[in-house]
Amino acid sequence: MVGTVTENNKETIQNNDPNAKVILKTVSRTSTENPQEKNPPRNKNPLFFHKKQVFSCVYRKNVVPLWQKSKLNMKIQFLGAIREVTGSKHLITTDSGHTILLDCGMYQGKGLETDADNRDLGFDPAKLDCIVLSHAHIDHSGLIPYVVKNGFKGDIYCTPATRDLCALMLADTAFIQEQDVRTYNKKIDKQNPHKEKGKKYFIEPLYNQQDVNRAMKHFVTYSYDRRFRLFDDVLLTFTNSGHMLGGAICSLEVYEEEKSEGVKELKSEGKKVWKRITYTGDIGRPHSHILPPPQLFPQCDYLICESTYGDRLHDEDEVTEEQLLGIVDDTCVYRKGQLLIPSFSVGRTQEIVYVLNQLYNDGRLPQIPVYVDSPMSTNATQIFRLYLDELSDEVRDTVQYDADPFGFNTLRYITDISDSKALNHKEEPCIIISASGMLEAGRIKHHVANHISDPRCTVLIVGYCAPTTLGARIQEPGLQWISIFGQDRKIKAQITKLEGFSGHGDYREMLDYLTRSLMADQVKQVFVVHGEEEAAATYKGHLEEAGFKHVEVPEKGQTVEL
Ligand SMILES: [Zn+2]
Repeated sequence: MVGTVTENNKETIQNNDPNAKVILKTVSRTSTENPQEKNPPRNKNPLFFHKKQVFSCVYRKNVVPLWQKSKLNMKIQFLGAIREVTGSKHLITTDSGHTILLDCGMYQGKGLETDADNRDLGFDPAKLDCIVLSHAHIDHSGLIPYVVKNGFKGDIYCTPATRDLCALMLADTAFIQEQDVRTYNKKIDKQNPHKEKGKKYFIEPLYNQQDVNRAMKHFVTYSYDRRFRLFDDVLLTFTNSGHMLGGAICSLEVYEEEKSEGVKELKSEGKKVWKRITYTGDIGRPHSHILPPPQLFPQCDYLICESTYGDRLHDEDEVTEEQLLGIVDDTCVYRKGQLLIPSFSVGRTQEIVYVLNQLYNDGRLPQIPVYVDSPMSTNATQIFRLYLDELSDEVRDTVQYDADPFGFNTLRYITDISDSKALNHKEEPCIIISASGMLEAGRIKHHVANHISDPRCTVLIVGYCAPTTLGARIQEPGLQWISIFGQDRKIKAQITKLEGFSGHGDYREMLDYLTRSLMADQVKQVFVVHGEEEAAATYKGHLEEAGFKHVEVPEKGQTVEL
């Protein structure tokens, strides 16, 4: 199978064929069509390149390279999600001068300070060649329209589901920004009736819906496990990361001139080497209800790895369903209150709905109304229904006897704002699932503001909340008052947390996944990103114990030559 790739690739390089890209793509597509090889052992993986095969295939003497030579060294600059969990951005500049941005995430949860961070990209979008997108979460994709608005002309590579989810999520983000900015500017207008000439009072959103529409035209999608060319000297493969629908581990292979003794061991017979750089994006969990476990990915030389739960272990998965049912019973049956679940619209909401659906099918869910109060969640659920083939075996089994695993008789999806407002006046027990997950904005913030002082109610946190967000502040032990929408409110509702629904693997799960995918001692360097300072530092220690050498937690803005 690899032999076929080798043969064709040899031809294209010898002939300096301008269609080389097309030929290689065609061959690599056919090379992964055997479904039995979806997750083969490492040495049989069609995507895993034995060094002899790679170099016999691409290195030919006296051949003019297809790309422009330059004297640059490949480097990576860490621009965001460094010692924190939002704003993912890492800029790779190849030996030949191509620039590739891994993720283009938005900073979230720091108020006006976040706005300034988001506007300061750290690179010139007009000079950027392409963006590789690991998944659609806004902390990974949210600045794409802003970058396009500021001159980016290249392609954005991701999986088809990520593209579909981005169309929804970026539009939603633009809408929220426009709303927030309008509210802020109104307030400023009132506070400054006599404005000085030339002084700037009002702010503008980072981008609007038109910018999102323009940005969507730059998306180019490839399915998982297809090895394709970004440039003549750069290949990319997506592997399912199990973190969210469409989520991918991004494996780059960059072909470049040998520069130093340090990379000699990669060389076989000439002066060219492949450097394999893998970016994990976010890593999922081995036992999600609706997503498959993270799939093994090809060996790499450099690893950029997330560390959100680098210092923590989750509760055991098996009890999550029972725990959720216990909280529903306690809140809605015994206290006759309302259960409010702030949840990310994409992924978490569908997982909770799926678990409730299973409880309903088993006849264990109390006969109370369940509301998914979010147009985004409603639309995202439609996308999940489209990509059932990318969901877990459990979901596909369920579909055999329950045509809609994301819907049941007592569940209602609410899109209309007046229906959402009507929920505020309901007194009877119910479950309300709504965005945003960190309680920073959206309808759930209103629901929590209205019920936080009602001792019958429960606010159930089901995902990670960045430290400065309302979702994190509300969980502070012993806290009696909280300010929501500028008004102090007494906390009388129960605040509970369920970690089993997290989309991020804990450190043990991540280590297990990495060490099954990689030969740790062959990874030259590991960069720990996407984790709070302490989590990243602790995870660095865990990686070293697992056999990874040269593990580093980079500084924001730091550039490393590879
Ligand atoms: Zn994510």
